[in-house]
Amino acid sequence: MADPSTTGPQPDGTDAPVPADLVLRHGRVVTLDPRRRILTDGTIVVHAGRIRWVGPDRLRPATTGPERDLAGAVVHPGLVDAHVHTGTETVRGIAPKGAESWETVEEVAYLGKTPYDEELAATLSAMDMVSSGTTLFADTGGSVHLDATARGIAAVGMRGIPGHILCDVPQDGVLVEVAADTDTCLARLRNQLDRYPWRPDARVRAAVTLVGMGLDSDALLTAAAGLAGEYDVPLIMHQSWDRAEVDASLAGYGVRPVTRLRDLGLLGARTTLVHMIQTDDAERDLVRETGTRVVHCPSASLRRAKGALRDGRFPEMVADGVTVALGSDGLSGPRDLFRQAYLAATVFRELRDELPTLTAEQVLEMSTLHGARALGMSDEVGSIEVGKRADLVVHATDRPQSLPAFDDPVDWLVFYAGARTVDTVLVDGEILYDRGRFTRIDTDEVLAAVADQARRHERAIGPDRFARWPLIR
Ligand SMILES: [Zn+2]
Repeated sequence: MADPSTTGPQPDGTDAPVPADLVLRHGRVVTLDPRRRILTDGTIVVHAGRIRWVGPDRLRPATTGPERDLAGAVVHPGLVDAHVHTGTETVRGIAPKGAESWETVEEVAYLGKTPYDEELAATLSAMDMVSSGTTLFADTGGSVHLDATARGIAAVGMRGIPGHILCDVPQDGVLVEVAADTDTCLARLRNQLDRYPWRPDARVRAAVTLVGMGLDSDALLTAAAGLAGEYDVPLIMHQSWDRAEVDASLAGYGVRPVTRLRDLGLLGARTTLVHMIQTDDAERDLVRETGTRVVHCPSASLRRAKGALRDGRFPEMVADGVTVALGSDGLSGPRDLFRQAYLAATVFRELRDELPTLTAEQVLEMSTLHGARALGMSDEVGSIEVGKRADLVVHATDRPQSLPAFDDPVDWLVFYAGARTVDTVLVDGEILYDRGRFTRIDTDEVLAAVADQARRHERAIGPDRFARWPLIR
């Protein structure tokens, strides 16, 4: 794409005003464009949902349409949370407390969930994401009631890739309640791909989403990969989460998990593997050579002690040119991608006694460009460039956390402000969150419904079941 700041304000060479639905002026714009320009006094012209012009304000073209003066606010592309489970949002904080079994966690997560419960959880999750600067996410198969999840995402207006839970070989009690036979899984998968097609204007769309982690049969994996090709969509699945999974693969198939995927023909640029904690050198070579994408979820591993920071080789993968997006996962911490970026940028330093390991700039790339690649949308989102969709995050200038305002705001974003100063969020140029208020939904109504639902869940789970301190009523 031509760089408008060097080619002049009107790319077509005419004096006609550039059509605009919204002109954001005087932002400190972290573009993530190929040159990684930071515009210290930048302007973004939005038209028909896309970025029509971006450059220094002094070079801005004449425009039609309303302007907003950002008064030096930091602007960056919407963040991409590449691994989410929206369905667990309304039970966050109850369990796990520590080493509870996965069956217990699952019981809490899926306990009698109705479509209403799932829609409400997805609505809350989308609100949480948007208000912390995330504009696109993928749920790697977390829905029992897919349409309900999709309704929740659409109500808030963000981009989302929801998915059925698809697992046909539950092991050791894991996912027994939500597993199904291979044909049923494939029928559900085809259903989600048909119902939510991968269309340019669809904010909610479906990819091939599998549970993975050894809980899908060879037949399901190969048929799912065939569907990903047929529908031309990404294939996203959990993988290599812990040592038990590696041991089970060696015992059951005679090879490590990623080698098994290679043998089944699943590796490649269309495939995104989430977690990838317990991998060896040969598996990482396979990932690099095939262009397979990876998602690193620091919080999930830290909460469950799986080794993503201790054993994971994510800085090496980034250095090798592998796409490594970030994900917040489920029941492991806040739906806040900035927290994942902070952890990725800091914990490796401490563990390896090495500075900087991953820089703030690199984790910001992982949060945007890598996320867009991992979810098959790098032509559309992930940076602020002419022609891309206007998915933008504007930070506040008037909060205690807003200052100091340096020309280079990258370390401020990653190490200090994070989500706390997110103020205004746009998707397709539509303002979804305007100076702290949601524009499409009634926040009070949603929160009241969530509060009611939480009481019901708490009664069903047993309010004293996990509490370590006495609850005095
Ligand atoms: Zn997950």
